[in-house]
Amino acid sequence: MSRVALVTGGSRGIGAAISKSLKDAGYTVAANYAGNDDAARSFTEETGIKTYKWSVADYDACKAGVEQVESELGPIDVLVNNAGITRDAPFHKMTPQQWKEVIDTNLTGVFNMTHPVWPGMRERKFGRIVIISSINGQKGQFAQVNYAASKAGDLGIVKSLAQEGARAGITANAVCPGYIGTDMVMAVPEKVRESIIAQIPAGRLGEPEEIARCVTFLVSDDAGFINGSTISANGGQFFV
Ligand code: NDP
Repeated sequence: MSRVALVTGGSRGIGAAISKSLKDAGYTVAANYAGNDDAARSFTEETGIKTYKWSVADYDACKAGVEQVESELGPIDVLVNNAGITRDAPFHKMTPQQWKEVIDTNLTGVFNMTHPVWPGMRERKFGRIVIISSINGQKGQFAQVNYAASKAGDLGIVKSLAQEGARAGITANAVCPGYIGTDMVMAVPEKVRESIIAQIPAGRLGEPEEIARCVTFLVSDDAGFINGSTISANGGQFFV
């Protein structure tokens, strides 16, 4: 029987590429999303992957969502915490609301999703957790105090879960993408995007599939001894 993988924010952008890559690798995939029903519908039509709508910022909804996926597809072996948002503003203009929305989704969302799948993984003595963090969680970024804090916090979660899960056969790792050509980055004004690309040694944005391949490796049996690690995939823009 194939392993079951749940990808949050799995119907668009990097998450969609991860969902497809895992499906191609033989997993039964569930793709969660927040509200873009049209994107989810066409994703399912194109890929045959089932989509599930709830917000990762809502703990009770996450718990119910995990129960629904497990009752329909089977116990979740792989969780990819990919859902994320930006609410950029220079710090002196950043509102408490902008802070809260980003922390609730990018950081608390990882707790909300990982907590309900963790006991089952411990019981079954197998689990793979991957968090999609960001280059900006590693180095900080102008106008992204909220986002950088959330993504740096994700790296702390990974390092701690790695220690707690190791004896139970659970690994937790992070991927830190640089700038990838998704809606999130295409929403940035073209001039700003050009200046971003000028700072990438590779001279281009990354492809969602380049992040998906990192994830597919990290959740494989071949990566069983990789735990608490971060893969940076950023075209040479930043070294830890
Ligand atoms: P997109 O904006 O293209 O897609 C985001 C996805 O997350 C969508 O599927 C969206 O659902 C979902 N989502 C957003 N909020 C929630 C929520 N509260 N609950 C459930 N799902 C939610 O983003 P990207 O593909 O660009 O980014 C994916 C991840 O990669 C994010 O964590 C981002 O921070 C990170 N990242 C991206 C980089 C980039 O350059 N693009 C660089 C570094 C990191 P819906 O479709 O319903 O809106």
